[in-house]
Amino acid sequence: MTERVRTAVVAGAGIGGLASALGLAREGWQVTVLERASEVGEVGAGVALARNGIASLQALGFADAAIQEVGVPTRAGGTFDQHGYPILAIAPDVEGVTMRGVHRPRLHEALLDRARAAGVEVMTGAEVTGIVPGAPDGADAVVTAAGIEHRADLVVAADGVHSAVRTALAPRPVPVYSGYSSWRAVLRHELEPSVLTQYWGPRAEFGTMPVGHGLTYWYGYVRLPQGTRYLDEHLAARERFDDWAQPVRGLIDATPADAVIRHDVVHLPGGMRRYHVGRVVFVGDAAHAMLPTMGQGAASALEDGICVGRLLGAQVRAGADVGEALAQYDAARRPRCRSIARAATASALGGAHLGPALQGVRNALMRLTPSAAISRGADAVMGWQPPT
Ligand SMILES: Cc1cc2nc3c(=O)[nH]c(=O)nc-3n(C[C@H](O)[C@H](O)[C@H](O)COP(=O)(O)OP(=O)(O)OC[C@H]3O[C@@H](n4cnc5c(N)ncnc54)[C@H](O)[C@@H]3O)c2cc1C
Repeated sequence: MTERVRTAVVAGAGIGGLASALGLAREGWQVTVLERASEVGEVGAGVALARNGIASLQALGFADAAIQEVGVPTRAGGTFDQHGYPILAIAPDVEGVTMRGVHRPRLHEALLDRARAAGVEVMTGAEVTGIVPGAPDGADAVVTAAGIEHRADLVVAADGVHSAVRTALAPRPVPVYSGYSSWRAVLRHELEPSVLTQYWGPRAEFGTMPVGHGLTYWYGYVRLPQGTRYLDEHLAARERFDDWAQPVRGLIDATPADAVIRHDVVHLPGGMRRYHVGRVVFVGDAAHAMLPTMGQGAASALEDGICVGRLLGAQVRAGADVGEALAQYDAARRPRCRSIARAATASALGGAHLGPALQGVRNALMRLTPSAAISRGADAVMGWQPPT
């Protein structure tokens, strides 16, 4: 008897959607991705991809050479105050803080190419506007996009923090503005030293990192009223950081004005109460959008992708009950993502979100942090390994 081919529809072609599509296609599923935008792509910013993100890419079939192509090896190089005085020195021999500096469009393109090569169909201009979740032991799920109904054994909701699928099926939690907005830019520049360096000042953080191919990424994360817009974002960033250390000012000055973008940072406090409804599973920011202060949003979306493939795709194909496989996914992902999101909030409160009064106390405490503690903390999050 021939095996019935299982079908999945993925809403959203971001990092989480493409990773999930690839994860399922590698397990023999027939996958269609529906993307609202007219072109599939990512903003021209960088992303620090920690070891857990790299382990996910490897599990998704990326060979070493492909990972080299996606991002340059780098490491956390320490934290300074806004005047450039060290507050957390990380010696070069501290283990566990290695990562890859990645140019987002490059990672996105690599995922897209691999997904397509694995047989995934990607439809653009296909905004998901309707969802019937079906039942794990009964009816298929049905997704409506651009007036067409798509039936599937499984729907992956990967449509970001403002997920239309989540809003329809699980009205709580709702996205919340963090109070912070982030300028980001990538410019042609050789960073010296070639590491991730952070500067913390009152209610602001600035970071720099190499992303390979002679490019450097920086971000300036600042407290701002939601929806603030400047006529000249580059000038606004220069003014906001004009009394910060020279490397910060120098990098902003050297950036072409049209390379500077800014996005308000929105998250889902607590994340979803459960990562599945009917035959719909939630991944990435749709399930657990977190503050960027742990640099783990993209990495955890990649983890979700390989887990959708291995805990759902492979298990269901091997005959497991869909409901049980969904519960297994939820049990593996929800506690972990919640704990990373909590750590990101804690890191924000003691870092970029801290007001002027407590900067000195925080800096003094951080200077006492031993290297072993940094290594242990990094391992708890970044030492994750995909399920086999
Ligand atoms: C300032 C900032 C810095 C960050 N830095 C890091 C970092 O250094 N390291 C890290 O790991 N993470 C970082 N992150 C987090 C990371 O960028 C996100 O967590 C990750 O990109 C989420 O991917 P996603 O695929 O879940 O969602 P998204 O990237 O939001 O993708 C969702 C996709 O769905 C599409 N879509 C939306 N609605 C619909 C619909 N109705 N129908 C069809 N398609 C739809 C969208 O067009 C989009 O393509 C950062 C985030 C911010 C804001």
